[in-house]
Amino acid sequence: MTCRPEPIRHPGKRSSQLPESLFRLLQGKVPGQVVVQFTDACNAACAQCGMRVTNRFERSTLPLEEVKKSIDAAAEKGVQAISFTGGEPLLFPDALVEMINHAGKSGIQYIRTGTNGFVFRFKGNENRFKYRMEKLAETLAATELRNFWISIDSADGALHEKMRGLDGVIRGIEKALPIFHRHGLYPSANLGINRYTGGEDLDLVLTGDSKAAKEQFYSGFRQAFSRFYTFVENLGFTIVNACYPMSLEDESHAVYSASSTDRMVNFTAEEKHLIFRALKDTIPKFRSRIRIFSPTSSLHSLEKRYNGSLRRPIPCLGGIDFFFIDAKDGNTYPCGYRACDNLGKFSDFNPDTVDRKSVCTLCDWECFRDPSELFFPITSLFTAPRKLAAKTREDPAFFRHWISDLLYYRACHYFNGRQNTDKNRLTRFR
Ligand code: SF4
Ligand code: SF4
Repeated sequence: MTCRPEPIRHPGKRSSQLPESLFRLLQGKVPGQVVVQFTDACNAACAQCGMRVTNRFERSTLPLEEVKKSIDAAAEKGVQAISFTGGEPLLFPDALVEMINHAGKSGIQYIRTGTNGFVFRFKGNENRFKYRMEKLAETLAATELRNFWISIDSADGALHEKMRGLDGVIRGIEKALPIFHRHGLYPSANLGINRYTGGEDLDLVLTGDSKAAKEQFYSGFRQAFSRFYTFVENLGFTIVNACYPMSLEDESHAVYSASSTDRMVNFTAEEKHLIFRALKDTIPKFRSRIRIFSPTSSLHSLEKRYNGSLRRPIPCLGGIDFFFIDAKDGNTYPCGYRACDNLGKFSDFNPDTVDRKSVCTLCDWECFRDPSELFFPITSLFTAPRKLAAKTREDPAFFRHWISDLLYYRACHYFNGRQNTDKNRLTRFR
């Protein structure tokens, strides 16, 4: 897509939160983040997710007043980033807008939500579709929403629609993006890494332990990621992110059921090692073309973790500065996976009781793992300089990636979904 006229509206500027953030960093705390799963209802059929419409279980949606109470508590506790997730958030558009507005008014700066894309289903009536999209873009742009993600599972549009059970969404997304851009909203494509990322002809399976088999699998994923980035760039996206595979051996241990044992997202440790390496090695080729959120420093750590060479893992901030609120009971958990650590209502939760020394590296959930990796050198500089020095000596490549990530993030306006890509700033990453 080439049509990117000037946006109609820019969101109002907020006062800088820097002094408060700096104060937190000096104490070794990072800006807080809460993921609110306000519903587990969904209308898509994704095999890789326990919330798929065909999976029978009693669905829950949190009462609006309860979510608002959690938002107030989050703002009070210094949380600066909040995500409203599902299920499918846009099944409840009015409640969603109200939650976003409430978060904006309470002073939370980074507000995010997303969709499986069902709203973009295009059935052939151009005028009706355009009218619907104008309304949706206008409504969301009038809020203080910063990032709006749209899930895309494959570089093959037809396959993506088949896997999600949502026909016509790809054509609709392509038509809707220029409308969103005109309203000053730049949605992100959100890939959940799976065996069909590159299309059906690249059903990637590691077939043995030989060097040749590994090379084939790695090259297959390099090709898959390249195809994917090209595909979403051609659709008109300006930002892209990748969710790391979240298969769990026992799904009952997770609060958040956005996981599955399905083979399309279930990878061996060696496969994960090669996938993370392939993604890390593919990203530099595309950084000048589309804003890619996935930090190569984090991918470097994951690659090392899965090849067994990571001696000093960076602890996740889930349950420390980052939290998850579950749709079933409205309670707080360290993340979407540690179901055994119920922390109660967020409004009753006292962050000072948190054990800041706890170390969790149980999973690869990028929502919490990526920012944990990115913040580690900053917070440990103030609170654990010796640990930082040891890590620097042991793994200088991590720091090279980290610095390059920071420079890139800066050039990307920190992935502000209310600003278009500044191509000039990205050219130096060519
Ligand atoms: S991945 Fe998202 S869209 Fe798909 S079934 Fe799960 S919640 Fe619904
Ligand atoms: S590593 Fe995974 S399981 Fe552990 S706190 Fe972070 S998100 Fe939760």
